[in-house]
Amino acid sequence: MRHSVLGLLLLMTLDTSQADVIYAGKLIDGINDGVRENVSITIDGNTITAIQDGFITTDQTIIDLRDKTLLPGLIDMHVHLDGEYDPKSFLGRFTNNEADYALTAAHFARKTLLAGFTTVRNPGDNFNSTIALRNAINSGKAVGPRIYSAGKSLATTGGHADPTNGFRHDLMGNPGPESGVINGPDDAWEAIRQHYKDGADFIKLTVTGGVLSVAKSGDNPQFTNQELAAVVAAAKDYNFHVAVHAHGAEGMKRAIKAGITTVEHGTYMDKEAMQLMKVKGSYLVPTITAGKWVADKAQVDGYYPALVRPKAAAIGPQIQDTFAAAYKAGVNIVFGTDAGVFPHGLNAREFSYMVEAGMPAMAAIKSATTTAAALLKNDKIGSIKPGQLADLIAVEDNPLNNISTLENVSFVMKDGIVYKH
Ligand SMILES: [Zn+2]
Repeated sequence: MRHSVLGLLLLMTLDTSQADVIYAGKLIDGINDGVRENVSITIDGNTITAIQDGFITTDQTIIDLRDKTLLPGLIDMHVHLDGEYDPKSFLGRFTNNEADYALTAAHFARKTLLAGFTTVRNPGDNFNSTIALRNAINSGKAVGPRIYSAGKSLATTGGHADPTNGFRHDLMGNPGPESGVINGPDDAWEAIRQHYKDGADFIKLTVTGGVLSVAKSGDNPQFTNQELAAVVAAAKDYNFHVAVHAHGAEGMKRAIKAGITTVEHGTYMDKEAMQLMKVKGSYLVPTITAGKWVADKAQVDGYYPALVRPKAAAIGPQIQDTFAAAYKAGVNIVFGTDAGVFPHGLNAREFSYMVEAGMPAMAAIKSATTTAAALLKNDKIGSIKPGQLADLIAVEDNPLNNISTLENVSFVMKDGIVYKH
């Protein structure tokens, strides 16, 4: 009974037909810098099996995208699927149970997939809701992108990801390592082992203050060197990479030196931090879209709490300039937006902001395809070639001439299943 209701709902809302051959007018494969024209892509089940020049004659099912540009399914390395900020969000901790977060995440996951993002990394959620969603999507019980989840972010007491900031003690208590609030190396080990037990894919830390937490500083360092060393050592034992939220330079530098993999936002990254990132091979996840969004909303009376508003006004407008400087300095860049700070589904705006800041369109596309796939250690996604999973999207224009065409995705296939056409 359950199955048939779900099946009917899917049929009503999605075209889940299986395709065999796709005709593509233009092809950006994520690997080559050129654009191939007029090709046929053969798909068997969930796998790309051949790419041939011309439009082949076949009796298999054909999807005709001769007037479109085909690309690999996009990868956003920074989304928070279990929420979307609005002025009442702070009440959520009092009104939402685990199931509320999980169902919210399922809603936004579908929206994200239909916007062309077939894989996302979720650095921080409530109650591990996106771990549950990842499992539901992987087993066909929910519709959404392939998810890499950090579960709950790790923070120190009062830090950016301490979920009890700003609330009465007796209502919230002390969350402790199990809920991702750690103080000292032993807590770090306990929290990472807990994340392993809970099924996380990587570890997220908030190593400096942040914008949307109800706390005064948006950029102070919030982890000691000893805590960072413990986090990185424990993460290594459990084969996790470490992503750090960082606005301020001091907290960022401590984390880069400790050996983390990605710096999220990087707002006040100075020359020394950029140099350290190059030496250590760490990646910047820009989140320019979130920066622009919070800068705009800081102008609206009452949108953010009094403690948050000045942080949004100061940090938001800096992020694109930092990205421009970091890219110019040769820092590795991987695509990520912080969707959830702004409405889900607008993720592709980031491409236009990256290009506006000086990154060539093809480099921006690769940061959201091959580069992201390599960081996720998944060699089956992020490019279009035989043997890859059939994660494909199509847009109307050639994004090398018109990058904003990526904001209007007209075709989405994930794992060989068509979700939008
Ligand atoms: Zn974030």
